[in-house]
Amino acid sequence: MRLSSEFIVNLNSLAHNFNLLKEIAPNNEIIFMVKANAYGHGILDIVYFSFTELKIKRFGCATLGEAIEIRKSLPNLDCELWVFSDVEIQKYKDLYLEYNIVPVLSSLNDLKEIYFEKSFERVPKVIKLNAGMNRLGIAEDEFDSLIDFLKANHVEEIDHLMMHFSQSFIPIKEGDRCHRQYNCFKRFKERLGQNAIKIKETSVSNSGAIEQGLGLEETHIRPGLMLYGPRSVVRKEYWKGIIISSLVAKVLKISKIEKGVPVGYGGQVTSKSGHMVYVNLGYGDGLLTFYSGAEIVYKGLKGKVFGRVNMDLTSIFFEEEPTDLVVGSEFTIWGDGHSDIVQLSEQIKTIPYQLFTAITHRVPRRYIN
Ligand SMILES: *Cc1c(COP(=O)(O)O)cnc(C)c1O
Repeated sequence: MRLSSEFIVNLNSLAHNFNLLKEIAPNNEIIFMVKANAYGHGILDIVYFSFTELKIKRFGCATLGEAIEIRKSLPNLDCELWVFSDVEIQKYKDLYLEYNIVPVLSSLNDLKEIYFEKSFERVPKVIKLNAGMNRLGIAEDEFDSLIDFLKANHVEEIDHLMMHFSQSFIPIKEGDRCHRQYNCFKRFKERLGQNAIKIKETSVSNSGAIEQGLGLEETHIRPGLMLYGPRSVVRKEYWKGIIISSLVAKVLKISKIEKGVPVGYGGQVTSKSGHMVYVNLGYGDGLLTFYSGAEIVYKGLKGKVFGRVNMDLTSIFFEEEPTDLVVGSEFTIWGDGHSDIVQLSEQIKTIPYQLFTAITHRVPRRYIN
């Protein structure tokens, strides 16, 4: 653990984003996606705050282990926990029951495993369709078998039916892949209706879809990224959330560098004279090597991540002297009005999801409320 660099999470900003979301989706219940340690922000603190302060009742995990961690650590929180991807229902039936966790059923085999087990009687039956994402879910060519299965077993009602969009992060237009996926989902809903099978709840929208108003006629939405702040549809201003976190390093050293002097691993040289600021975050903290070359702005001064990112530290080159910085100063990599994480991730050809989740346990999380 480090003592003097921080991943600061502002819970008031999370509340702000939640209220903004309620404005654009006033009629939808929320399944808040908190997989991968709440996108790096700390799953327990995020779930606790969201349940107690924002009254969010249902949370989406990727793995059973994540859900169990929440149950064990927050035993008095009466929230619903759903497991979306690493469901392993055949292997861990008992754990789902013991910890009161809901598996999202993504294949006919998953369905057959628990649908009529007495012990799972009271567990909501949640079915995920593959409407063109072609990853998890029951695919269109299995829809007949799914209907047959439900009819043969006299199922009158499904608790929740869902699908997942594959490219809601680009602007949608009539007839595109998003609409084709959604139409596939609607066709299946109709078929259930024709077979007198009711559906209690439905959800299709992730952040990109919600930003663009797609799928809001379903009962539920499944936001992840947007509640942590970033917009999904880059270069469009559909979503104006506040980035709830900031990554703050400390300055270890500042030195004047003459043009042509080799610095660090590989001995890369600067093309101009200037000032090198060494900060105490490296790839061992999740400041991954592809930050190399990224522009980082400090109080209006443009710096550039210089040379190779090291395990424990990173050098940032400024042509102009950053006169406010001294050894021990805070240096914000992103967030809190400094570099914008969406622009930063575009620059280094990645996505904000990855910049968030990369931050390792060595960087302490601190919560502001
Ligand atoms: C992660 C995930 C979401 C949330 O996606 P964002 O882009 O972060 O909003 C929604 N649904 C499913 C099934 C997911 O796996």
